[in-house]
Amino acid sequence: MSARRMLIAGNWKMNGLCADGLALAKDITARAAAGAPRCDLLVCPPATLLCSVGEAIAGSAVALGGQDCAAAEKGAFTGDVSAEMLKDAGCAYVILGHSERRQMHAESDAQVRDKVAAAWRAGLVAILCVGETRAEREAGQEQAVCCSQLSGSLPDGADAARLVIAYEPVWAIGTGLTPTLADITDIHRAIRAAIPAGTRILYGGSVNPRNAAEILALNEVDGALVGGASLKGEDFWAIAEACG
Ligand code: PEP
Repeated sequence: MSARRMLIAGNWKMNGLCADGLALAKDITARAAAGAPRCDLLVCPPATLLCSVGEAIAGSAVALGGQDCAAAEKGAFTGDVSAEMLKDAGCAYVILGHSERRQMHAESDAQVRDKVAAAWRAGLVAILCVGETRAEREAGQEQAVCCSQLSGSLPDGADAARLVIAYEPVWAIGTGLTPTLADITDIHRAIRAAIPAGTRILYGGSVNPRNAAEILALNEVDGALVGGASLKGEDFWAIAEACG
């Protein structure tokens, strides 16, 4: 286990109405209160639930994060949410450059870089996602792709206090597939060589209560970004408990 404190982050994506989102937040908070987590805990609900979930987790060990933000501070950007708005809603973190944003919303590295800068401007920790597609992996390009996304998406002035990297192979997200432990270690090492010392690197992609312990035991892994399994309090907590 590394000296960096682990972070287990739940990306709820576009899931949750008021009642079930609140119930999930309360469930996780209650487990954290009873269980003395050995890691930092973060939930990233959809924007509609930020304020209510924020109220439900206030004073607990669970932090609040957004799933994306605009680069601009305010103005005529219909449908967008600024980093300042996330901060105002109680967020401490924001996920940026997720592969679903890069693929479905055609976000470029340059756009992601501007969003990371916006997150820092607002006082948020940016969780910057990088990861290769299946075709890129099959072509042996995974390290080159991740390092290129990183250099294109990371503004100058990065430091470990306001940056977390999430390595999320696109082919592992929501598929039940994961890279080998050796592959995770190799990519995390390559990423680590390109970021400030002490920056946490999360692994994301089909993390669940059954595979969490072996992934989180890797020296190069400082936590997990969890999608599907973060929607069940029991599973999210089991992953948090797997932090040694
Ligand atoms: C994600 O989309 O960030 C993710 C890791 O999803 P899942 O855990 O469902 O693969």
